[in-house]
Parts: sequence; structure tokens; C-alpha cells
Amino acid sequence: MMEKSTVYIFSCENYNVDEIYRKISLAVEDMGGINSILNYNNLDNQKKVLLKPNLLAPEKPDRATTTHPAVFEAVARFMKDAGFEVYYGDSPAFHSTETTAKKAGIAEVANRLGIIQADFESSSKVFAEEAKQNKYFNIAKGVTEIKNVISLPKLKTHGLTILTGAVKNQFGCIPGRQKSSYHVKLDNIERFSQMLVDLTMLIKPKLYIMDAIVAMEGNGPHRGKPVNLGVLLISKDPVAMDSVACGLIGLNPQKVKTVVLGERSGLGIINDIEVKGDLELKTIKKFSLPRRDVFISLPKWTRNLIEEFLISKPIYDYSKCIKCYECYEICPTRPKSIRIKDDGFPAYNYRTCIKCYCCQETCPTGAIYLKISPFRR
Ligand code: SF4
Ligand code: SF4
Repeated sequence: MMEKSTVYIFSCENYNVDEIYRKISLAVEDMGGINSILNYNNLDNQKKVLLKPNLLAPEKPDRATTTHPAVFEAVARFMKDAGFEVYYGDSPAFHSTETTAKKAGIAEVANRLGIIQADFESSSKVFAEEAKQNKYFNIAKGVTEIKNVISLPKLKTHGLTILTGAVKNQFGCIPGRQKSSYHVKLDNIERFSQMLVDLTMLIKPKLYIMDAIVAMEGNGPHRGKPVNLGVLLISKDPVAMDSVACGLIGLNPQKVKTVVLGERSGLGIINDIEVKGDLELKTIKKFSLPRRDVFISLPKWTRNLIEEFLISKPIYDYSKCIKCYECYEICPTRPKSIRIKDDGFPAYNYRTCIKCYCCQETCPTGAIYLKISPFRR
């Protein structure tokens, strides 16, 4: 039987770095100290740690698309104070790490504190011994070389996986456009989620610190609506952390494949979690999800049943489209499932679309939303 996991739920009303630092100290001390978490019981000169924030896209911190720089700063300071050389890195969906980190406020903190940007451009092929499905991954060299990873997920809704939290945060450890190929190879949510679980079991972050102070609901993970949840989550178990995050936003964790498959694969646990901190586990706000429901007038139990058999199609809202064509560029199918019409607006070819929602995730203006449809094409 798997051991009980602990998730710390702390109240953080705003992005006060000192307050976040204090809450991290409390949790880490309760876990036995940072050297025991990172397996550095003997002090030596190899004390390196890699912080992995969510740097999905170049957006300002108040958009809630990326891990807030105050959370990043608190963790970075804490690790520096513990004597670690601190690195950071992520591979955004479309833009460069530099551009994204600069806009997200992470680069400014890194420069000020002397945090080194790790290599997330080149990669090494790594065998995933414990994987249930994907036995090899190309992992960013920054991850394979530094090894000690602290994952800093952002709590957001997601078009494909419903929730983007602790388990999904490791997807950014695969450099650049290599990520898109996984959508083509694993063209259903079950297989894609199992890949995320396999990847997290390979990278094995030692600690997860989730920024749910301002989270995102609705059309996530890029242009959804920021929501003040006021919560900081800390755990060594990403499945337990995501399960608790689901509870905070009124989402049944059994609906999130990364959580269900994560438990089935031995990555963590869903139930019987020990909750510590200064907040109890209860729904703070029921989040709206990215998929727009056409059966809104049906009773909830009927909708839940029917949704299992339905597919969400990406739909354009041309009133928000600025014709940047990032959706076209990111589309992983060959031929692309998006064409540019004579009037310059993009249009879908649902016959070839694999419903990976990379276009919806990338769109910088929120001009793409998802609509549940009884028809696959
Ligand atoms: S839908 Fe979004 S990503 Fe696509 S062209 Fe318009 S603004 Fe750009
Ligand atoms: S059109 Fe969008 S959802 Fe369809 S395959 Fe391309 S990126 Fe994925």
C-alpha cells in the first residue's frame, strides 16, 4: 500500500515575497529540511537546484498565464539562503524562453538574484525505466545535468487536460517544437496524459510549489480569466497536489486523467491525503472550464455522462483575432488543419484536426475557444 502524502495548503492573499518565503520555510521545515528533500545530507560544492516555473507564453504576471515572479523569487531566495546555486528554465509553447521570461517578470528576478538560465534548447535522449507507455524522452540538458528539480506549477484550466498543475508542468522540460510531435503521436487524452505521467516519473521533481494565489479559470491555459484564490500549495506528491487543487476549484479529480493515471502508475495518491498548513481543504470557487457546453439545459448527471462521448472542437472568434497566425504555425498535423482564408482570417479543417488544442493554448488574444460537439468533424 502506498504511503500517505502530505499537501500543505497556505493562505497567501497577495504576492508578498516575504510571506511566501515564510510559508515555504514552514512546510520545508516540517518535511525535515531542504537538504533531506533534495538528498543533500552532506554539504559539498555541488549544491545545484533547477526551478521549473510555468512559462507558457509571454504574458504579464497579472494575466495569470505564468508562475508569478514573486513565487519564483521566494523559492529562489530560499534556495540561495540554503546555500544552493540556483538555475531556472522552461520551454514555452511558441516563443523563446528569454522573451517569455522577460515579459513574465521572471528574467528581472533572475538577473537581480543571480539565478542562471539553464540550457533548455538542446536535449538528451533518456530511458524512462518506470514508464508505462513512453520509454524514451528527449529532455532539456538543463534538467538532465542539474537533476534536482523544484517544480513551480501554476493552477489553471486547460483545454485538453482540463487542469494544468503539478503533473503537467514537466511538459516544458521537452525543448521547443518537439512537444508538438507528442500531440500527433498520442492523439487521445488518455495516451497524452499517460505520457505526462511517465515524463514526471522520469524527471522526479523533489518538491512542488504551486502558485494558486491568482489562478486561471475558463478559456485556459493562456487567455482564461484570472481568479484570486489566495492559495499556495506545497507537496512532494504531484498527484496529491493536483487532487487537492481540484478540490479547491470544485473539480472532481476523477475527471482529470493525469491525476487518475498518475495514481494508477504509482506517481502519487488521490485520496487519503494528509492536509497541513493554515487552510482547510474546501472549494473556494467553482471554476468554469474551457469547454463550452451545448447541453447546458440538461441535468448535470446527464451532461456528465454524455460529455464522455463528445469531443470539443476549436472555434474561432474573429472579433478577437489579430491575424498573427501563431495558431497556424503551432498546428502539429501534416498537412496543417488550419488554412488562411482570402480575407486573412484562419479557418479549421476538422477532417484532419486531431483536437490537440495547441492552437487554443497558443492564441495570444483568446480568439479560440472550445465547443462541445456531438460530431467529430
Ligand atoms: S486566432 Fe489567435 S493565434 Fe490565430 S491568427 Fe487569430 S489571434 Fe493569431
Ligand atoms: S487545428 Fe488546433 S486542435 Fe486541430 S490539430 Fe491543429 S492545433 Fe490541434
